[in-house]
Amino acid sequence: MSARPADPLPAHTALTDSFGRKINYVRLSVTDRCDFRCVYCMSERMTFLPRARILTLEELAALGRTFVELGARRIRITGGEPLVRRDILWLLQTLGQLRERGLMELTLTTNGSQLERMAADLKAAGVARLNVSLDSLDPNRFHRITRTGELETVLRGIRAAQAAGFERIKLNAVILKNRNHDEVVDLTRFAIDHGLDISFIEEMPLGMIGDHNRAEVYYSSDAIHADLTRIFTLLATTESTGGPARYYRIPGANSRVGFISPHSHNFCDSCNRVRVTAEGRLLLCLGNEHSVDLKQILRAHPGDHDRLRQAITAAMALKPRSHNFHLAGQPLILRHMNHTGG
Ligand code: SAM
Ligand code: SF4
Repeated sequence: MSARPADPLPAHTALTDSFGRKINYVRLSVTDRCDFRCVYCMSERMTFLPRARILTLEELAALGRTFVELGARRIRITGGEPLVRRDILWLLQTLGQLRERGLMELTLTTNGSQLERMAADLKAAGVARLNVSLDSLDPNRFHRITRTGELETVLRGIRAAQAAGFERIKLNAVILKNRNHDEVVDLTRFAIDHGLDISFIEEMPLGMIGDHNRAEVYYSSDAIHADLTRIFTLLATTESTGGPARYYRIPGANSRVGFISPHSHNFCDSCNRVRVTAEGRLLLCLGNEHSVDLKQILRAHPGDHDRLRQAITAAMALKPRSHNFHLAGQPLILRHMNHTGG
């Protein structure tokens, strides 16, 4: 396994797992709902959770505060599509205020569909950085992959986010063979031309999705890297945004090109994160089912921060050494990415 760059966030945290990894990054999924139905993420006909099973915004705020008190330095808000959750701005403003308690960065991952109308408010709420998912620059393809999305809406959203002052917006592109693998050069050029970073993601086997055969569409990071080096010079860097991506620079361009490669370059050794699902399950690993029901604690003992703190601290012992993804056969993890919080 290649050496991973150091995490730029300070490792001062009360959260350490049994393998000595410091956990200073939490992803909160605020909804399982979404206005898109990306082929690798959801079935076309998804059953969403009843609202009562989803954490309230107040519960999410309490979790954010507790994690920051325990040493989390970055919170990423995700989903489902976080910007379709009603009153999400209240939550973002509330979490934004945790900077006074040690939070260093509040970030958000979005499909971009609501960005045009919300970008300025997100900036004002204290969101520091955005990741925007973009798998294709061809409107028809984009629609086929997302099943309901409109490319032009997302592109307008990206422009609005830049106009609102967001810098270093990162595109996330899940690359699938024979669906969009031939666009990696165009997507990279788009990122360079628009002052964006880009990460290419290998699809992860989360949830059963109809006739979507994951082994058939697998396209490795190495293949993407080889495609790009036919056109660009890629210089490996030790830069990190504290996540699993390995980054490269292209001489003369400001963009970073990242690869998130759960299959071909396992990144578990340097894992610094945990996730909370929209239902309030603390997931210790994206690729394992080890979890703790934080919603049960939040609802049985409202306002009891100590109990929550203890449960989160104790949960670190459950964090597995590594994910368990295999391409062949049935997925071992039956929850979909929108439930998980990607
Ligand atoms: N709806 C938002 C979005 O699409 O950016 C946030 C949630 S989405 C689950 C977060 C990220 O996970 C997106 O970049 C998406 O492309 C990625 N994703 C979804 N399902 C995936 C899968 N099975 N394997 C790898 N990445 C996946
Ligand atoms: Fe929605 Fe994001 Fe999943 Fe696509 S990847 S269906 S946009 S949650």
